[in-house]
Amino acid sequence: MGQAKQRGTKQEREDQARKKVESLKPASIICNYCQAEITDVHVMDTRGLLGIDGAYAGMCYCEHTTWAIAGAPEAAAELAASLEATMGHESIIDSMLRPDVADALATSAIDKAANGSR
Ligand SMILES: [Zn+2]
Repeated sequence: MGQAKQRGTKQEREDQARKKVESLKPASIICNYCQAEITDVHVMDTRGLLGIDGAYAGMCYCEHTTWAIAGAPEAAAELAASLEATMGHESIIDSMLRPDVADALATSAIDKAANGSR
């Protein structure tokens, strides 16, 4: 709304966003279901998601997907909730976060998953 001034071209901003997402990508994610180390980590398309720095899906051989989401606590919790809804069943949320927000997000994600809604 009313943001006339833009930093760089659209292409430049997309390149920057992509680099940031790649730099945050974890080499592996520990499966929340079977505790296996998942190295099959996929970068999710999070363009346009406010507050989300990056989202990653670890596809485990146990057929569960563990998500790693980096970003602001509220935005990440919201995305986690919508991923849960999209995936339907037992997809399990992980969090891969900046240290300063890790606790807040982990807590809110777990609360959401445990309570369903609040
Ligand atoms: Zn697993």
